[in-house]
Amino acid sequence: MITVLLVEDDVRLADALTGALEGHGYTVVQARTAATALAAPPVDLVLLDLGLPDMDGIELCRRLRERHDVGDTALIMVTARGGRYDRVRGLRTGADDYVVKPLAIEELCARMEAVLRRTSRREDPVLSAGPVTVDPGNRSVTCAGARIELTRKEFDLLTVLIREEGAVVSREQLLLRVWHTAWPGTRRTLEVHVGTLRSKLGVPGIIETVRGIGYRLVVPERAAAHSADS
Ligand code: CA
Repeated sequence: MITVLLVEDDVRLADALTGALEGHGYTVVQARTAATALAAPPVDLVLLDLGLPDMDGIELCRRLRERHDVGDTALIMVTARGGRYDRVRGLRTGADDYVVKPLAIEELCARMEAVLRRTSRREDPVLSAGPVTVDPGNRSVTCAGARIELTRKEFDLLTVLIREEGAVVSREQLLLRVWHTAWPGTRRTLEVHVGTLRSKLGVPGIIETVRGIGYRLVVPERAAAHSADS
């Protein structure tokens, strides 16, 4: 699942875009100001409106690029300024693409996919926790060096948990981020996937059930020691 930071001060446009993007399976985090955008956690892609109340979008792009945790994140400028000078300036500041308003959602999605394809190679270093490593670039997983075959949903689930290593992720969050639904009827599906993920990983205790809330990925001490030894 892909998380998008939508930096847009026009509330109606932001809400319309959010609805449309969620309909296409994206998770959307909104920021109405540059200050909020700069404080937002890392995401997969930034959609950046250039006309913001507290800072010019070009300047915001430059500052986002300086932050080392989001410096490589895919970034598309979305703006009413369609002049060639603006486009060139935007791209030179580090935007991966430039979309001029008014925009068609299908075109935006196509451009987002293209930019994500290009940036996925530089994005996401391999994630690891104890003996488990997840490579989001080629969607591969290994445990203690051995490759593990996971289904798409198992992979997405593990990726969410490993990104949040040590923190409890609620069932609602997991359903939203992996299945893009908050429907409680999907909970059984989640339990089944956690079960198969546990048995495929074969590391006892690595996915903890936090009763009544959700799950947490923790590296059991023995597994951590084993991986340090090897
Ligand atoms: Ca604006």
